[in-house]
Amino acid sequence: MKILIGLLSCLFSITSYSQTANQPNIFIITTDGFRWKEVFNGADSVIINDPKYVSDTALLNQIFWDDDLEIRRRKLMPFVWQTVKKQGTLYGNRNYENNVSVVNPYRFSYAGYNEILTGFADPARIANRKKWNNNENLLEFLNNQPGYKNKVAAFASWNLFEYILNNQQGNFYLNCGYEAIEHDSLTDTEVLANLVQRSAVNDQEHTRNDMLTFVTAKEYIQAKHPKVVFVGFGETDEFAHSGKYDEYLQSAHLFDEFIAQLWYLVNKDPFYKNNTSFIITTDHGRGNKAGNWFKHGLFTSGSSNTWLMTLGPLFETKGELTGSGEIFNDQLAQTIARSLGFNFTPLHPVGDPLTLSTAARR
Ligand SMILES: [Zn+2]
Repeated sequence: MKILIGLLSCLFSITSYSQTANQPNIFIITTDGFRWKEVFNGADSVIINDPKYVSDTALLNQIFWDDDLEIRRRKLMPFVWQTVKKQGTLYGNRNYENNVSVVNPYRFSYAGYNEILTGFADPARIANRKKWNNNENLLEFLNNQPGYKNKVAAFASWNLFEYILNNQQGNFYLNCGYEAIEHDSLTDTEVLANLVQRSAVNDQEHTRNDMLTFVTAKEYIQAKHPKVVFVGFGETDEFAHSGKYDEYLQSAHLFDEFIAQLWYLVNKDPFYKNNTSFIITTDHGRGNKAGNWFKHGLFTSGSSNTWLMTLGPLFETKGELTGSGEIFNDQLAQTIARSLGFNFTPLHPVGDPLTLSTAARR
């Protein structure tokens, strides 16, 4: 009998392991308030030459400018234009009336991330305040699904993610703002990152340096192999608000590098290889003119304009979309759930799934 039980439990663990291993992995990656214009057009010809927003216009031109659109946008985001364009799909180039938009009218971050991660453009999500979010989010939902239990992890530069994701019970792993990295087997790099966070940073109240968020995410991913990962970067928005177009572009360039490194990391790791997809977006747009690019909100036109990139086996490979149409950020949560084979059914409304997922159409 003992042998039979042993054999059965062995068989069971093999089944559940291989089921987990075969089930697709998904990474949701965002950078805060990054405009569609820079994604698709590269550096802006007017702003890059305005000394009000750029410390050294000649040098910034040297780094990010070219008269040729293709070269210019590749200078800013080489991974996006070399790899995502060939192997994935890019939505939101408004030059072709290919629109991606937020539904919520506020065009602020709390409302924007709530929309992406709960699928609900909640009319009550107004201010960026430390207020617990009562909407059910996709990460919490996935963490309760077979094969994904305790396999969900989120990392963010902005400290308000603690409230947006309302993970008070600690059901999934969340590290945001200048929160120390804590889990049962810290690597040397994580110990170092904790030291840097504690000692080298003046303002620990708000948005963490994106590089620290990246290191935190990367170490955890390598060691723990979460199957659902959220990584939210924040510096594009921070530098835009300070009116520093040079640093805004540099942050975007770094964001592109982070995606490249994460893509490389997962595709050299047998746990993730050929079974991991990325969905990449932003929580809101910003002003679409040279005089208001740095701000966003209800009354700044352009603030609802976002963009979306998909990459990996769950999604179709269409390259840069050049046909007209519109999709919305509130559709992403259900799209992701369906692509993993689940139906996201919280108590609040959820945007319809998109058909960008090959799995969703099965
Ligand atoms: Zn902002």
